[in-house]
Formats: sequence, C-alpha cells, structure tokens
Amino acid sequence: MMKKNEENKDQIEDLPKNLPVIPLRDTVIFPNTMFPVLVGRVGSLAAINEAKSKDKLVLLSAQKDPEFDEPDFEDIYTIGTLAKIVQVLNLPNNLLKVLVSGVCAAKITEAIAQEPFLQASVARLEKKKVDKPKKLEALIKKSREHFEKYVLVNQDLPEEILLGYEQYEDPEQLLFFMASYIDLELEQKQQLLELNNLLDQYTRFLTILTRELEMLAVSQEINEKVQEEIQENQRKFFIQEQIKVLQRELQEDEIADPELSKIKERLDEMEMSEQVRAKAYEELNRLRKTPTMSPEHSVTRNYLDWLVELPWGIYSEDRLDMKKVEEALNSQHYGLEKPKVRILEHIAVLNLVKHLKGQILCFVGPPGTGKTSLAKAIADAIGRKMVRISLGGIHDEAEIRGHRKTYIGSMPGRIIQAIKKAGTMNPVVILDEIDKVGQDFRGDPSSAILEVLDPEQNYAFHDNYLDLDFDLSQVMFITTANVASQIQPALLDRMEIINLPGYLEHDKLEIAKRHLIPKQLKAHGLLPSRTKFRDDAILEIIRKYTAEAGVRGLEQQIASICRKIARQVVERKMNGKKLTRATVNVKKVHTLLGVEKFRDRELDKHNKIGSVNGLAWTSTGGTVLQIDVAKMYGKNKFILTGQLGDVMKESAQAALTFIRSSCEKLGVDKDFFEKTELHIHIPEGAIPKDGPSAGMAMAIAMISLLTNRPVRHDIAMTGEITLRGEVYPIGGLNEKLLAAQRNKLKTVLIPKDNERNLVEIPEKIQEGLKIIPVNTVEEAMKYTFTKS
Ligand code: ADP
Repeated sequence: MMKKNEENKDQIEDLPKNLPVIPLRDTVIFPNTMFPVLVGRVGSLAAINEAKSKDKLVLLSAQKDPEFDEPDFEDIYTIGTLAKIVQVLNLPNNLLKVLVSGVCAAKITEAIAQEPFLQASVARLEKKKVDKPKKLEALIKKSREHFEKYVLVNQDLPEEILLGYEQYEDPEQLLFFMASYIDLELEQKQQLLELNNLLDQYTRFLTILTRELEMLAVSQEINEKVQEEIQENQRKFFIQEQIKVLQRELQEDEIADPELSKIKERLDEMEMSEQVRAKAYEELNRLRKTPTMSPEHSVTRNYLDWLVELPWGIYSEDRLDMKKVEEALNSQHYGLEKPKVRILEHIAVLNLVKHLKGQILCFVGPPGTGKTSLAKAIADAIGRKMVRISLGGIHDEAEIRGHRKTYIGSMPGRIIQAIKKAGTMNPVVILDEIDKVGQDFRGDPSSAILEVLDPEQNYAFHDNYLDLDFDLSQVMFITTANVASQIQPALLDRMEIINLPGYLEHDKLEIAKRHLIPKQLKAHGLLPSRTKFRDDAILEIIRKYTAEAGVRGLEQQIASICRKIARQVVERKMNGKKLTRATVNVKKVHTLLGVEKFRDRELDKHNKIGSVNGLAWTSTGGTVLQIDVAKMYGKNKFILTGQLGDVMKESAQAALTFIRSSCEKLGVDKDFFEKTELHIHIPEGAIPKDGPSAGMAMAIAMISLLTNRPVRHDIAMTGEITLRGEVYPIGGLNEKLLAAQRNKLKTVLIPKDNERNLVEIPEKIQEGLKIIPVNTVEEAMKYTFTKS
C-alpha cells in the first residue's frame, strides 16, 4: 500500500533534539512514501508511544542484520528516514500496525540513549546541488520510460500506478516513488537513500531498473515455457485418465467375449502413440456396446482389425554395409552401372544421416528394363521389407487415402494397405507407374501422392479410413515410370530421375545367361546341368521372338521353352524312358516356340528412291520407321496413310511446304505439285504413330523422290523441321540410337541441338554408329543421297 505523501518535508523546519529511533528489520522506508510498519519489540513500542504523545516524528533506520532482536546504534545504519506517524492500529498479541509517512533522509548525529528505547539527535541529509541539469533530465526521462515498461510487463503491479505518478515534478519525490515499486534488496534501497546527489541516485536507480527489466523478460519467457509444459502434461494426463476409464469399462465384461479380449490384448501390447491408443480403446468400447447384429458392429470390428494389424512401432533394422549392398545389387543385376552407382550413393547418405529426407529415386525406362526388380534388390540388400503399389490408372484420390469408415465396405487407401502388408513402419514402398496417375472429376490423386512423398508432411499422413495421423517418414519410397515427361511436374520436382533406357542385344544375351535362364530353370524344376541354352539359340529368341527394349518378353519366351521341356521330361519319365540332356539350339527354339513372331527387320539392303529410315520412340523403346513416298499423276494432292496422328500429319505438311518454297535450292522442279500427287505411307499401319520427329525423314524422302536420287539404306534420321527447313531437337534420343544399333544401321542424323545429350548416352549404345548432328535439311541431304 502506498500513497502520495502530502507532507512537504520543508514544513518540518526544526527537528527536535531528541528523536525516537525505530530499527527496521528488513526494509527501508523511502521519503515521500507512506507505508505500514509492524511494531512488536518492546523498545519500538515505547518509542512509538513517546512519538505519538509528542510531534509524531521518528527516525526509521534499517538493521544491518535482521536477526538481531535488540539492536543498538552499532547494528543500524546511521542514515535512515525521518518519518511521521500517520495512524496507529492496535493488533492482537501486543502488536501495533503503524502507518508512517517518509519525510526525508536523515542522519544520526549523536546517540543519546539506548534505554528504554533508542533516541538520537538527527540532522537532515543535505543534498548536493545538481551541476548537470541536462544529464539529470535525460536520466529522469529514461527512468520514466523504463519504469512504465516495468509496470506494464510486471503482472504483479496494477497499471493504475502510472495514473498518479505523472504529477511528481520534484525529481527526488519521483525517484523514491518509482523505487518503492521495484523489488529491491535492502542494501540497494539503503544505497539509494544514502546517496546525497540526485545524479548519482538516478544513475544507480536506472542501472538497477534496467537489470530488473531484463530479469522480468527472462522470467516471463520461462513462465510461458512452464505454462506450455503444464498444459502438455495436463493433456497427457487427461488422455491417460481417459484410457484408464475406458479400460476399466472394458474390463467389466470383456472376459465374456473372447474376441474382444483378444483385440484388447493386442492393443495393450502394441507400441502405438497415446492418441492412437485412446482412439482404439474408444472404438473397442463402442464395439462392446453395439449389438452384434447391427451393421455398425461389423464396421467398428473391421476398423479395429485394421488398427491391430498395422505394424505400430515395428521397425526393421537397416543393413547399410556398402560392400554387401554392392554385392547384392551386382549379383541380381547385370550391367546398369550408372543406376547402381547412384543407388549406392543413396545408401551411403542413408548410412550417414540414418534418415533420408526428401530424396526419392525414380527409375525411368521402358517395361522390362529392371526397374521394379532393381528396387526390390535395394530392399533385399538393406534388409527392409518391400511392397509394391501400382499407380497405373488411378484416378481417385480415395484410392490413395481411403474412404471414411462410415461408407459401407470402405477400407484404408493403398498406402496404409501396403504398410500393413509390409508389416513394418519402414519398408521400401515401390510406387509403380507414377507417370500413369490420372486426374479427373473424381479428384486428383497426385496431391495425395505428393503428401505421401513430402518429408514435411508425411510424418502425419492422414488416411480417411483410419482417421488418424500415420507416420510414413521412415518409409523409403522408390518410384518407377516409363516416361519422365509424363510425370506431373509437382511430383517430378520431388524425385531424382535415374534412366534405364534399355539393353543392347549383347546385354540381353548376358542377362539371359546369367539371370533369366537360371531363374526359369529353377522355377520349372529343371536342372541346369541337364538343360543348356546355346548362345545362338538365345540370340534367335531375342531377334525373332521379341521386339523390346527390356527383357520381359525374353524372359517369357525362355519360361515358355522351360515349360515345354519340363513337359517332355515328365512324359519321358512316365513312359519309362531314360532322361536325356536337353540342349536348346536354334532349331529347338523354332520347334518349341513355333512361328517366329518378328521377322528380322526387313530393312532394305538396297538404296532406294523415296524410302527413308526414320527413328521413332515408343513406350516399349525405340524403333525404326520406314517412310515411303510415291508420286502419281494428278494435281495438288497429298495423301498420308499409316495411322498417323495429327502432329505427324502436320509435320508432313510442313515438310511439303518447305520443299515447295525452296524448289530451286533443292533442285526440285518448281511446278511439280501442278502435275503430281504425293503419297506418304509409313508401314505397320495397325500401330498408331504420332510426334513431330519424323519431319526431317519425310522431307528427305520427298526430296529423294522429286530429284530421283536414291537414299542410303544404312542411314536413319530423326528431327523436327520448320517451314524453312531448319532441324529442331527431339526427345528419346537414347532409345532411338538403341533402335538404330539393333537394326545395324551405320549412320544416324540427329538435330544439332541434341548433340549435347550425347554425353549422357552410354558409349556402348553409340558404338558402331556414326552420329552426325545437322542444322538443316540441306545439310542432311549431303549425307543421305548416293549415286546408285
Ligand atoms: P520393369 O519394372 O522395368 O518393367 P522388371 O523389374 O519387372 O522390369 O524386370 C523384368 C525382368 O527382367 C525381371 O525378372 C528382372 O529380374 C529382369 N531383369 C531386368 N533387367 C535385368 C538385369 N540388368 N539383370 C538381370 N535381370 C534383369
């Protein structure tokens, strides 16, 4: 309690010679403040009585040591506060509550008596005059600012304090007013009182106040933290209590239903988070209360079955020994050097950080090039479980996230299903065909997939059916795609593309010998020592029974041969005949597999007029397209056949326009279109073809026809053209070169802009090919035509 002192110190002119002194145990009363003091000691009581009967003045002086019960002059500070008694209240137990009002600082000049109470003669403490008024003014201003902040921040002080203090004009009054609200040590107070110079007093005060403000800020921060912790603890406590209540309820009659108690047992054992546990118990409790016949019973039952079958808290331990991983990868896959190096880097990082954040591998390549089996090999090598989710054709977000459990027959989405199948929280999940994720009116599954793959979100993946956050952050995701350009950009951003473009004949042979044949022999119960595939037989299968970038068809054909041999073996056995060795040679391939499916590409071995090898890219790899042009008598007519798409038709038109507008340069009769009808045909008409990259080949075919110059049969070309005959870059160079090589072509013309892609293409694919980058059709003509 504090009030403004109405008493002006100057009103008390003459101090009495002999003044009662009251020692204060643990406080200093400042001048200009009014404070209640509790008095109980015999000496002090007598002193108060004496003062009360006279002019009500006393000297309040602090004790140096509060422990002393009967202090004398030695034990108190010589400087204290001259104060006036305002009111005296009798309390029980012989105590007095004395309201005193500080007048001014005063000094004991002479001790007069110790008994029955301390008496002394006292002089007012003289103040020095302020010699630097500007400095004082600045100090006062700063002190005021700090003090206001202090009152506002300190929750123990009412803001009303600030209402009254504006009226203090006297610097000393203001100082003691402010100081009386700050929580100061006794020594600090005494110091403030004793300083006889306003400048020193304010400086001292400001130092103390600044420190107090800092302390206050720190303690507030601590308070907030403590508060948060308390809230968190309370929340935990609340959930635990909830669990207990539910458990108690359950125990009441679960024994009656063995199924329920089995579920409960499982729930008790599982390492789920408290939130999940609370939810599980809640559902169990609900199940207990719903009649078995009601449909809701089976819904809840189903839900609980899902919950207890998920691998909460189960993690497999990673085996991150780089040497072993490398061995494992090599033992299961032939070649693929670059992808293997990249995978090993990936594992090395995992080895260091233990947790891969946001690095998702995406294997891109045609079917059968080993994308899935490589991902599986990674999982095997590092000792994780593996599950596959095929995303091909998924249109509905609910397939990823599941439906709410209130829908009849609903269940979790594919992600949670996969986790259940894996049985651990950290499997390798292969997201197959991420380029085939569709988007339509039923929603956009890619946003859900994005959430699955995003390390910032996937620690709390929300499945609609579970209606709980599920932690996917420890899962290693590997995705596969046929075509990188068809992956949605947002998904593509998250992934690191590793290309598996396809195999050369030589690679396929090795893969068959080392992996596919042993695998299939084993699968069909045939002994490798009794069944041999000759190399030329394998090549025959590759050339005549498959046409692919990968080895899936090859594996199927080998399986088919194995099946037939197995049948022969069994038949011989049943007929009591001796088992012989089977050697698969070229002839046997033909008898076992029947008519060859693909004839050796009948690429013309002759140079022909109007016939050019184009290169195309399909989802199964690259292929050589034969482009034929014929002319007939007629006028201004242009026919295109062979199931060509719009883009391809347009580039044929562009090629024609280029030729018509550059007749002179190209050596073409400028009126040719007046008397000629042109027909472009691309055989294998049953297969739809599209894309702009045949532009250059079509132009060359037409020029060849119109200028009567034969085109070399061992050359192929790819490139989009403009109306001015410039050659623009194309995609799928890798696969196209592979196709050229497979077809034993010697020279390939590619757009100049694609030259820089050559560094990324394995040397083996470029082997034996003369690759010539060209800028224009005219440049291409230099390499294309021959004399005969
Ligand atoms: P994708 O997922 O690319 O369609 P898969 O991974 O299913 O292809 O591979 C098809 C088959 O070919 C698998 O049996 C796989 O083991 C085999 N295979 C592919 N590439 C290789 C390789 N480099 N070495 C050994 N086997 C391979």
